[in-house]
Amino acid sequence: MIAAVAKAANHGKTWATKSNKPFAGFWKYLNTWPVAEKTKAHRTRAQAIADGDLTDWLGNCYADEFARKGAEAHAWSQQNMEDAEKKLQNKIGVLKLCLDVLQRWPPAKERYPQPEDQIRGVRPRLKNTKQHNWEWNSLIGRYRCARCCTSRERDKT
Ligand SMILES: [Zn+2]
Repeated sequence: MIAAVAKAANHGKTWATKSNKPFAGFWKYLNTWPVAEKTKAHRTRAQAIADGDLTDWLGNCYADEFARKGAEAHAWSQQNMEDAEKKLQNKIGVLKLCLDVLQRWPPAKERYPQPEDQIRGVRPRLKNTKQHNWEWNSLIGRYRCARCCTSRERDKT
């Protein structure tokens, strides 16, 4: 995580805000671009002064302090944990239900027979019926077959 932050900071904004980068949304909102430098942790102030990098040591102290405060601010109680667990289980339940429905969903070919299937007789078309059933249709002023819907002037079979 820390290594990822340093990497993003060192690569610059264009790199860090690419859509495939994990914290692109975070980097996008920075107005001032940070400089990331690695520094030895767990040193005393005196050691840092002796090493000649008091600035980095101080920076590291601030980072530790803010990380601690952040963790405290978002500390979860046992109740929060249980609620979150229940919510997660509910979401998993919904997802399982969706998967179950999708698994039972008939394939498109079953739902919408293709012309091939119709020719093979899976879904015979009424048009192939030899006997017409002529009925007078006043709306179109013609006889219309009740089976295949073809129309003609006269009632002839
Ligand atoms: Zn007909």
